[in-house]
Amino acid sequence: MTERPQERAVRAAQRPSRLVILGHPVAHSLSPVFQRAALRAAGISLTYDREDVAPGQLADALARLAAEGAGGNITIPHKEAAAVLITRCTPAARRVGAVNTFWTEQGALVGHNTDVAGAASTIRALVRGNVADVRHMPVVLCGAGGSAAATLVALHELGYRDITIVARTPARAQAMSARLAIPARILSSDAIESAVSAARLVINATPVGLRDDAFPVEAALLPLECAAFDLVYRPGLTPWIAVCRDAGRRAEDGLRMLVEQGAAAFEAWFDVPAPREAMWRALNAVPPSYDSR
Ligand code: NAP
Repeated sequence: MTERPQERAVRAAQRPSRLVILGHPVAHSLSPVFQRAALRAAGISLTYDREDVAPGQLADALARLAAEGAGGNITIPHKEAAAVLITRCTPAARRVGAVNTFWTEQGALVGHNTDVAGAASTIRALVRGNVADVRHMPVVLCGAGGSAAATLVALHELGYRDITIVARTPARAQAMSARLAIPARILSSDAIESAVSAARLVINATPVGLRDDAFPVEAALLPLECAAFDLVYRPGLTPWIAVCRDAGRRAEDGLRMLVEQGAAAFEAWFDVPAPREAMWRALNAVPPSYDSR
């Protein structure tokens, strides 16, 4: 059996009065699109609004939301700052050092992290096998920022122990591995080709491919049995994932992670199963299936 991340069981003691997503900028966020669809599907009459909050205004915004009894999500660039400002954090948020989900209990905010559950969900979908199998399965994680930290925790919770982090700034990867107490081999970006030569899973947790057609690593360099997970998502597939699939690799972009972090947040706020079908439908997408491959 594959281990499930512990934060799945975390639940709010009371329902939020309303929901918001805080970010800067936040207009591009897809969370309102699929969370509103989920609220409708579950028959919950709450609003889910975008709030563009400049970094200097985050503390005031959080205090106001606590007074309102609100809940919601937090996105770039506030996740790490929120983990400092919100004094009551779940073990998942404390471990990653970032808050992407929150709610109010007795007038104070509780900070949580569901990016770990989102990343774990995609990794489980992409990789066949169980904890015993993945322990020695070589994984390459590109990046050392906030989403790389959540993904590293997900890998560790799923039982992966052969982890290489490839980073443009190796010192940042070193610090991340030490802070999370998750041992990993650290290499700089120019060693990516040799790093992936024996990999069974390669994960892109950098913005490479978000606004350009660049790849974290050439698809042809991945062994045939190697799966690819791109945290980046954009309309259609990311170019890297499209090429990986054309080359016969199991490959997913960041859409499932996006939906699953949202589903885990929904379940924490309301303690009911998240209506995932409605969430995917709102994004005009379906979760990739590998049953026939
Ligand atoms: P972040 O905290 O800013 O970290 C970005 C990381 O990527 C850093 O390690 C940075 O290196 C590295 N990097 C940036 N540009 C690079 C380049 N051109 N070549 C190589 N490395 C580069 O960002 P984040 O929050 O981790 O997010 C990263 C990406 O993940 C986002 O762009 C987003 O598309 C995606 N994401 C997806 C989800 C989802 O639900 N699917 C959730 C969160 C994020 P330095 O340390 O050298 O700056």
